Formats: sequence, structure tokens, C-alpha cells
Amino acid sequence: MNVNLEFKDPAWAKQTVETIRQIATDYQQELDDCIKNGTLPYGSFRELGKQNLIGVLCPEEYGGYGGNAPEYCLVTETIARYGLPSTQAQIQGMVWLLFWGTEEQKRKYLPGMCDGSIVFSESISEPGAGSSLKNMNTTARRDGDDWILNGKKVHINGGAACHVTVVFSMTEEGMTAFLVDTKLPGFRCEVTDPLGYRLALTADMYFENMRIPGNAVLGQPGNAMATFLTTFNISRLGNASELIGQARRALSDGIRYAKARAVGDSKVTDFQGIQWTIADCYSALYGASAVRDHAANLVRKGVEHAVESSIAKKLAIEAAEKTVNEVFALVGGHGLYWDQPYGQILLDVKTLRVAGGSLEILRNFIARQILKDDAGQKGIA
Ligand SMILES: Cc1cc2nc3c(=O)[nH]c(=O)nc-3n(C[C@H](O)[C@H](O)[C@H](O)COP(=O)(O)OP(=O)(O)OC[C@H]3O[C@@H](n4cnc5c(N)ncnc54)[C@H](O)[C@@H]3O)c2cc1C
Repeated sequence: MNVNLEFKDPAWAKQTVETIRQIATDYQQELDDCIKNGTLPYGSFRELGKQNLIGVLCPEEYGGYGGNAPEYCLVTETIARYGLPSTQAQIQGMVWLLFWGTEEQKRKYLPGMCDGSIVFSESISEPGAGSSLKNMNTTARRDGDDWILNGKKVHINGGAACHVTVVFSMTEEGMTAFLVDTKLPGFRCEVTDPLGYRLALTADMYFENMRIPGNAVLGQPGNAMATFLTTFNISRLGNASELIGQARRALSDGIRYAKARAVGDSKVTDFQGIQWTIADCYSALYGASAVRDHAANLVRKGVEHAVESSIAKKLAIEAAEKTVNEVFALVGGHGLYWDQPYGQILLDVKTLRVAGGSLEILRNFIARQILKDDAGQKGIA
């Protein structure tokens, strides 16, 4: 819900919404099949790339559109609004490469990541390291100019589809990030079957005595915590946008159904109680969008936005959970089948409640910022 996103070209924004809606219409059958099978819908994914919508944040010289956070939020929300595959991991990868990649790495990966011919994934989580990375067990040790990588990563979106994955691992120097080519010997993955994010071909990843070249290090050895944090705040805006898009989809489909559905002599939307539900869900989504837009505009202006981005994702989780729970009041039994979108959207929202910074971790961060604000700059004192 665009309340106040400041675009560099408003005409582009309007056209982009229409283009994404059209891609979803053209590829509806593929999307339905892939949701059932839990696979990446390559046709619509590549089409998003062809329309330069995956590389929304990437500069034109590397094949992208050259937008900023407002354009990123619009595209990400609209992709979720129409049930297309998430491009979040791809975009997060681009941000990492733009900040930390060598010129050679940028030229090698960015154009293909923009057009969708290179699928990127993020290998961070492990069986023993989720919200906290302290217990990370994946290791890389030097062997001449190369590195030998060993470890297991879990829940990786695009894990079974990716050509390259960024692997966070422990080295002598500390945590180090590597751009790992999944065609190299020593890599294998096992596709998993998650409830949400069904279009991501999620997998557990195994790196077994995998030899990777020295030029695969992203940034400096030992510096991966800084690399990790670079994308954090902007990716929270992407998560917030996906949540808002998913909830808008549920509410919009639910309202369309409820307006037409007769109950006795009334339509469902004639009931006052149902109207209040619609008003409450819309208001929650509007509030989350307004904060998301404010944070995105701050990013564009180059202003610090860590708290605003975290609040945006927190409010988006709460608004989306409320909406996807309460939309069942509008759709009744009709909504409780897999050929309707509501159940899947509910599960997708639950996934984003946890992945990419859970609601609890966001609350911890926001609380810490308030508690250390003795100068009263957060407006509480
Ligand atoms: C479908 C799916 C896709 C994913 N995709 C990726 C991916 O592409 N790449 C990747 O690296 N990871 C991915 N993840 C993993 C995701 O990032 C983790 O699930 C997330 O970081 C949380 O880790 P955890 O599940 O191990 O929960 P835990 O860290 O075990 O936490 C369990 C619960 O405790 C809460 N908790 C933790 N710490 C605190 C605290 N200090 N205070 C209060 N509560 C706390 C958490 O919020 C959570 O609800 C994905 C997960 C899913 C389900």
C-alpha cells in the first residue's frame, strides 16, 4: 500500500505495478503448480528479470534499474501482492556484492542476477545457529591460495536452485563470507518441504571438503559480521513489503468474495461486524505502510534508518498476522480449501514472522534503542 513512497520516476512506478500484475496473470498456471510442488517458477522468475524488476536496486552499469529503497519496496510488495516468487535473496545478494564485491565479482554475478539467469541464495542459518550466529559451526581453512569449506546450512531459500550462494563460515581470522559456486565438487543439497515460501525451492546445504578459490572471499577474511549487517536494515524493508503485499492480497480477495456472497437477504459486507474487521485490517496495513515508506524515504536520503526499518517490519508482521487471521471472517468455509489463497498466505506470513529477523529479535532491538536513549531523541522522555 503506497502511502508516501518517493520515487525517482512516478510514471515508472505506475507502469511497474501493471507489469507485475500482468506477469502474474500470464503465469498463473505455473504459479499454481509450483505452490503445490514446492518449486521455483522459473518462467515468471525469468520474466521478472527480463522486465528489469529483479535488479531494481542494482545500478544500470551492472544491468539493473538503478532504483533506491522506495522502488525496491514497491516492486517487492507488488510481487507478493500478486503471488509471484520472492526476489529477496537475489536482491540481498546484490546489495552485498555492491558493498563488498571486487569489480571482478560484480561483473561476474550482477548482470545474471538481474536478469534471473543466475539464482543466488544466502547460506547463513545452521542447525545450531539461527537467531544468534554465535554457535556457527561451518568452517573454512586455508590451503595454499584456496580454502577448504566444511559445514551444513539449513532452511536456505533457493538452496536447490542457486548457481551461487554466499556462505558465512568461521575461519582463523573470524567470520568470513564466501561466494560459493554450487557446481564445484563437494556441494550437495536436500530439498525440504516448508509450509510457507513454497516458491523458493528451499533446501539444506552440505559443504564437504569443498575446495573454493581465494578470489571467492566476499569482503575481507574475518569481516563477515560487517558484511552481514550491511543488508540488514534494507532487507527488513523488503520483508515488511512482502508482508504488506501478502496481507493486501488476502484482504482484497476476501473483500471481493464477501461483497458478492449472499447470506440470507444480506451480502457479507453489509454486516457491521464485518465492516469493522475490514476497517481494522486496512488501518493496520496503512500504518505499517506509512512507517515502511518513511524508512524507505530515509534510506533514499542517506539518513540513518535502523530503528525505523525495524519498526516497519514489526508493524508489518503484526498487521499481516491480524489481516490473514481475520480475513477468514469474510470468506467463511469457502476460504478453507487449498484452491483458495488464504491458507497459503497465512503460512507465508508465519514464515516471515521468523525469517530475516524474527518479531522477538526486532522487539529486542527496538527496546534496546529506546532504553539507551538518555537524551530523549526517540521522543519518549
Ligand atoms: C521457510 C524458511 C526460509 C528461510 N530462508 C533462509 C535463508 O534463505 N537463509 C538463511 O540463512 N536462513 C533462512 N531461514 C532461517 C531463518 O532465518 C531462521 O529460522 C531464523 O533466523 C530464526 O532461527 P531459528 O529458526 O533457528 O530460531 P531460534 O533462533 O531457535 O529461535 C526460536 C524462537 O525463539 C525466539 N528467540 C530467539 N532469540 C530470542 C531472544 N533473544 N529473545 C526472545 N526470543 C528469542 C525466536 O524469535 C524464535 O521464535 C529460513 C527459515 C524458514 C522457515
